[in-house]
Amino acid sequence: QVKARHGNGLCFFDPQMQTAISNRAQLETDLKSALRNAEFLLYYQPQFAYDGSMVGAEALLRWQHPERGLVPPAAFIAAAEESDLIVLIGNWVLRTACVQLAQWQQDPRCEKLQLSVNVSARQFRHAGFVDQVLSEVARLGARAHLLTLELTESLVLDNVEETVARMLQLRTRGIRFSVDDFGTGYSSLAYLTRLPLHQLKIDQSFVRNLGTRPTDEVIVQTIIGMAHNLELEVIAEGVETEEQRALLRHYGCSFYQGYLLGQPMPITDLLALLPPP
Ligand code: C2E
Ligand code: MG
Ligand code: MG
Ligand code: MG
Repeated sequence: QVKARHGNGLCFFDPQMQTAISNRAQLETDLKSALRNAEFLLYYQPQFAYDGSMVGAEALLRWQHPERGLVPPAAFIAAAEESDLIVLIGNWVLRTACVQLAQWQQDPRCEKLQLSVNVSARQFRHAGFVDQVLSEVARLGARAHLLTLELTESLVLDNVEETVARMLQLRTRGIRFSVDDFGTGYSSLAYLTRLPLHQLKIDQSFVRNLGTRPTDEVIVQTIIGMAHNLELEVIAEGVETEEQRALLRHYGCSFYQGYLLGQPMPITDLLALLPPP
């Protein structure tokens, strides 16, 4: 890295950083046009109960890029989170999810399916968030108690007062909350009891090592025990093997999501997995 004097301040010439910055700017431009051109779509990953029945799905964002093909969220969510672009994208996700929920409710095969939607911290903190969610739910006639918003641990722990107030406004209308990637943050039991939650979602990094890393087994058992004591649902994500599922079941985990049971997929494929009415 070369430092050069430039005017009164210092200027850093780092070609790699320069490329990253202009890529970032380009990415933001591309994301805006993706919204305009309707290039986003939702994939759905099924969630199953103890007895093997499908109880719901998680909506996972994809970007159908004209040249790059199907782009996963890891490639663009972080960039979107640096500005209010995440609010625009998040609103699109919410609206699309509510359209889907409203459609499911017309179909006896899926009228009871839950739909989980990921919410970014910046989106949740945005002044219009609560109204946005409530108006989409009302406008589309989606049943609020079938909509679960997934928040991360760091989001809920950052400014707990405000978080709880916001959650309660949605909770009183029936919307459910899950803590995504649970176990990777620093939630204490005391904080958890203050939040109007329905579900803890065990992070896949712990599920991955079940049966091979004893410390992760302890973590998983602890999370499941915590959930039971707080009367919360507990779901494991990233279930890839029969062994993992068997261990989770043995520890008392009630719900499962992962490649073993179903990849994220287009809506028509998800519906094809349902038994006939
Ligand atoms: P997440 O919410 O924790 O979602 C789980 C991720 O794990 C998904 O990746 C899913 O495809 C993947 N996964 C599911 N089962 C398995 C498994 O058995 N093994 C492995 N190795 N992976 C599995 P995906 O779809 O790439 O999404 C990544 C992250 O992007 C999500 O993590 C979420 O944080 C974020 N994201 C996705 N959609 C949205 C969205 O609409 N809004 C926001 N704000 N974030 C989103
Ligand atoms: Mg999630
Ligand atoms: Mg997760
Ligand atoms: Mg994750």
